Amino acid sequence: MAPDVDALLEGIRAGRRAAISQAITLVESTSPRHRAVARDLLTRLEPGRAVRVGISGVPGVGKSTFIEALGTRLTAAGHRVGVLAVDPSSIRTGGSVLGDKTRMARLATDPAAYIRASPSAGTLGGVARATVQAMMVLEAAGYDVVLVETVGVGQSEVTVAGMVDTFVFLTLARTGDQLQGIKKGILEIADVIAVNKADGDRQQEARVAARDLAGALRLVRGTGERAPSVVTCSALEDTGVDDVWARVLEHRDHLGEEGLARKRAEQQLDFTWALVRDELDQRLRRSPAVRAIRAEVRDAVLSGELPATVAADRVLAAYDGDAEPLPPV
Ligand code: GDP
Repeated sequence: MAPDVDALLEGIRAGRRAAISQAITLVESTSPRHRAVARDLLTRLEPGRAVRVGISGVPGVGKSTFIEALGTRLTAAGHRVGVLAVDPSSIRTGGSVLGDKTRMARLATDPAAYIRASPSAGTLGGVARATVQAMMVLEAAGYDVVLVETVGVGQSEVTVAGMVDTFVFLTLARTGDQLQGIKKGILEIADVIAVNKADGDRQQEARVAARDLAGALRLVRGTGERAPSVVTCSALEDTGVDDVWARVLEHRDHLGEEGLARKRAEQQLDFTWALVRDELDQRLRRSPAVRAIRAEVRDAVLSGELPATVAADRVLAAYDGDAEPLPPV
């Protein structure tokens, strides 16, 4: 049964966790009826003004430990913190689900925090849609900081960078080529880079790594553009985590109110088209006319009988020829 929007809205405004969870489940749903109710709910939510921060890094870098340390600090300072996850890989592998509460034991029991694991919406586009909408629910419920966690898998980092104000990249000190293993694309989207696990006998190594990274970034970004801050921290010992947060706030200051508003507006426009593309892709997959010729096209292309350009035209013609417009997802 679709939930009552009025009751949900009231619960969200009052900051009730049950209502928030129910609303997020609703916006994650792919059923057409739920999608219609979700749209109604979302258009009636008051826009919030949370600080939106993306946190990324390879598995094991310390994301959950860092979020636990940072989140606990923020709630102690009077903030209300939402943690959301974008992890398209967990859908396929069923592996480590980001935003898993057992990975953030302290924050999970903190009344001023709300943690939500990555939705299993099937595609990155689906996960992104659900996450952006969940963020809107949390903001309307009065959460003033939203941390979006993601792993360095495929496009997920770029997707998250497109939904937050500031993007934090966690990395580790490596001997040898410091940039090895860090995709160039990440260096281009990161606003703050933190070399984590700077504790014990790894402190010095981390500091050297941070300095090398800062140098490399100046080359990647070129002059004129603001290079991201590079700092070291230990999520485990909670040292330098406050400094990472200070750099996040500094980045917001640098954007200024106008710059931030413009960034968010541009993100909305990009996201609009991303949603359209995702939806078109889904429709293409579901199109009966396309399904009917898929195997034939596949065989013809694989055997070299049909050039890709002709095959693509045939698939598109089949899609366009679908007599009935498909229902919305
Ligand atoms: P995630 O996969 O990125 O979320 O990484 P986790 O937060 O689960 O951390 C992976 C492992 O690294 C765990 O055993 C943590 O205890 C450890 N770890 C995380 N942060 C630090 C740190 O700052 N210093 C040290 N020494 N270990 C850390």
